[in-house]
Parts: sequence; structure tokens; C-alpha cells
Amino acid sequence: MLDRFNRNITYLRISVTDRCNLRCVYCMPAEGIELMDHQDILSFDEIVEVCKTAVSLGVNKVRLTGGEPLVRKGIVELVRMIANIDGIRDLSLTTNGILLSKYADELKKAGLMRINISLDTLDPDEYSRITRGGDIKKVIQGIVAAQKAGLYPVKLNAVVFDKNDEATRESLQMFAKDMNLELRFITQMSLETGEFSVVEGGTGGDCKHCNRIRLTPDGYIKPCLFSNIGYNVRKLGAKEAILKAVENKPKVGVTCSNGNFYNIGG
Ligand code: SF4
Repeated sequence: MLDRFNRNITYLRISVTDRCNLRCVYCMPAEGIELMDHQDILSFDEIVEVCKTAVSLGVNKVRLTGGEPLVRKGIVELVRMIANIDGIRDLSLTTNGILLSKYADELKKAGLMRINISLDTLDPDEYSRITRGGDIKKVIQGIVAAQKAGLYPVKLNAVVFDKNDEATRESLQMFAKDMNLELRFITQMSLETGEFSVVEGGTGGDCKHCNRIRLTPDGYIKPCLFSNIGYNVRKLGAKEAILKAVENKPKVGVTCSNGNFYNIGG
């Protein structure tokens, strides 16, 4: 489906939860967040219904995000249900990697194709500071498990806090090279101020060629990360919500004041 700017929308990013097992300083407040009510969170059947509708309208690429998608109970089953939808050519997931060594094999067998893992530094203390207590060893174990399970490619998403921090950049580049991983650098973004840039080594942030829409855990189809626009699938039905979102997709992202990375899915 084409939007008003002739961009072909083929990519649906689905945030399956606003919960996370980390508290990254650039994403969540230390005290945590007010979680969405359980009854507001879409069920697996509702998510699959939105996916099927999106595929019937031209989507062929789906990514699962969060919060942290691996904390959603039954996530492997959801992957299996989505992987069984005809027309999905690319099914991926973005994770902080903490639980990945436990699920990598099952996710692959359920139909997941590839995976992105958030890793902003290789320094264990700095990693613990950024994530407010995360254990980097678990992430490394997750990376190894993902490769062993045959998920490919395995990509690293590294948020760049300081463009001049060559040491962190080089250590991540060497690690990615040694481990045969693809590395993407994401300049720190701010929904409030509208600061974002094109993902280095990726396609995010390139408004001119933007091909994506998002589904929030509570059922809003968002045409753009940096906008307050959203249409609820429970109120409008999946088809009308998706078509309205594409119809009203902004030319470029500006700001978002009614959502957060942890409940839109970055
Ligand atoms: S800011 Fe909006 S239009 Fe631009 S790339 Fe991101 S989602 Fe697409």
C-alpha cells in the first residue's frame, strides 16, 4: 500500500508488551513505569488478526519488539502463529538478549528468521550502569545461542551517546567482526524533542523511504514513531485502522508526546 508520498508500506513493527527486565537510562525511568492494564493488551489472536490484515494490504515484513518481547508469556507461540501466516517473507525480533539463551532454539524452530540484540558497550560496568543492573554475560550467551540456533543474520543495535567515543565504537566493531555479527549504530533519539537520525547500517530514521507502521501493545496503529497519530484496532477494526494510519502518515517525523520507546517499540 502506498501512502500520500508514494512510500510503499510493507513493514509492520509490533510492540507485544510495555514490560522489560532492564531499566535502560535512555528508555525507562529508574522507578519503572505505570504498566498498561492487562485487559488493554492485545491477545495473540488479536495480534495475528492485525498481521493477517496487514499482509492482505501489502505488508510482508514483521518485527516483534517491546519493552522486551521475551518477557511476554508464550512469545514462542506468538512467533509460531505469525510465522504461519502466508505472505510474511521476513519475521524478526529485537531483544535486549538477557533471556535469549533460554529461547533462541525454540524461536528458530517456531519460525523466527533473524534477530537484533541491543548492546551499547562491551564494558561490563558501563553495561550495568546503562541498563541499571544488567549482566552483560547473559547477553553474550544469548548472542552465541542465537547463532547456534541458526538465526541469521544476528545484528547488534548499539545506541551512540557520544559521537566522539571512538573506543566504544571500535571495540564494538572488532567484537562484531570477530563474532560475525552485523553492527548498527543508533544515535540517541528523543521523542519529546524530535531528535533522531538515520540508523547507521540500517533503514530506520530515513523518512523519505520510510516503509513502516507500528502496532502498540494496546492496539494502536501508529504511522510514525515521531508523531502522536494512532488508530485503535479494537475501535475501528484492523483494516480501517491500518488504512487510516497509512493515509495520514506524516511526510517526516516531528515529535511524540503521547508515547514512549517502551510502549511503541522504537
Ligand atoms: S520518523 Fe516517522 S516517517 Fe521518519 S523514518 Fe521514523 S517512522 Fe518513518
